[in-house]
Amino acid sequence: MVVHKSQEISFIPYGKQELLEEDISSVVEVLKSEYLTQGPSVAEFEKTITKIVGAGYGVAVNSATAALHIACLALGLKEGDRVWTSTISFVASANCAKYCGATVEFLDIDYDTFNVCVKKLEEALLVAERYGTLPKIVIPVAMCGQSAPMSEIHRLSKRFNFKIIEDASHAIGGKYKGKSIGGHRYADITVFSFHPVKIITSGEGGIAVTHSCELADKMRLLRSHGIVRELKDLVGKKDGDWYYEQVELGFNYRLSDIHAALGSSQAQRLPSIIERRQELANLYDDALRDLPIDLPKVSDENISSWHLYVIRLRSDDMDIKRMFFDEMRLNGIGVQVHYIPIHLHPYYHKNQAYDEYFPNAMKYYRNAVTIPLFPSITADQQKFVINNIKASLEKLV
Ligand SMILES: *Cc1c(COP(=O)(O)O)cnc(C)c1O
Repeated sequence: MVVHKSQEISFIPYGKQELLEEDISSVVEVLKSEYLTQGPSVAEFEKTITKIVGAGYGVAVNSATAALHIACLALGLKEGDRVWTSTISFVASANCAKYCGATVEFLDIDYDTFNVCVKKLEEALLVAERYGTLPKIVIPVAMCGQSAPMSEIHRLSKRFNFKIIEDASHAIGGKYKGKSIGGHRYADITVFSFHPVKIITSGEGGIAVTHSCELADKMRLLRSHGIVRELKDLVGKKDGDWYYEQVELGFNYRLSDIHAALGSSQAQRLPSIIERRQELANLYDDALRDLPIDLPKVSDENISSWHLYVIRLRSDDMDIKRMFFDEMRLNGIGVQVHYIPIHLHPYYHKNQAYDEYFPNAMKYYRNAVTIPLFPSITADQQKFVINNIKASLEKLV
């Protein structure tokens, strides 16, 4: 069957938000209310998210990047410390450590799950132990919505004495070993993003969830300038009812009530959104199964939130990927690459020899392409994507 480009199928992005009337009215409600920021909607949003994922506490901020930053600070990260994260992630997973003056070191992935390879992590930890260069924090990433092997990473954290921040920017609504990501106790802090391409959105926004009251308090302090107002938190004496104190160097990482209201409204639909994404992923699985490409694999212990559907071409030649990519884009299909290995970015890149530490990530980078998956994609659009993949592969392979 030939699917022609029509008005309706103009450009199909790899991901995008789904906004319903109810989302719009909940934002309008805030716009008509007393508070655009520092009102009641943020606390409501935090309550909603912590309840959904089964965490103890949630601190909502204006991006997942901000959440990662204050998570690092709350865990005491400072200059001279080391943070390890997966090289296949968005740069924010590494930058949060640099903001704190820490050193970042990268980890290779497991080629099948795109998540950090535990065997290599353990080997690296054994070497680091010998040299006295162990990390203070490890940041596993739940790539594409599938959790990293958190129980094994948690076991290693006890043996080698590091903290865990789970970058679950892709993965709200996903499950690991029967528990919601963010709800199990394998991470000290779990971070979600509410950018419009992610599972649910607040426009911009993120949240750090934890089971520790102390960590949540610290993050709340850092979110708003390091300022305290309550009598019990004051260091000095209260001069009058206007009085507040800055006790730490914090930031303005606050989420506005406008954003929070959108997030809360979207969060109500999380289960159906995950179901829809799973359905779309299944459709791709069935339609692409017999093609000369590798499809994403989700291990038995995971339920993925399906933030991204990544196919891998079986050629190790980046030229083939480039041709495939260009052809898809020419036909109006917004394929993308998630991600350029972080260690290859000029800011982080050391030298070519360094690349050899990451054979799986480098191979992944040579052949991985993200294809469109979002709740409002139509059956025709998905068919169009599938047929174009088939046609391009026939030409190229
Ligand atoms: C999107 C993303 C972030 C950053 O999220 P923002 O909310 O845009 O700051 C961090 N890590 C990963 C893995 C992401 O995909």
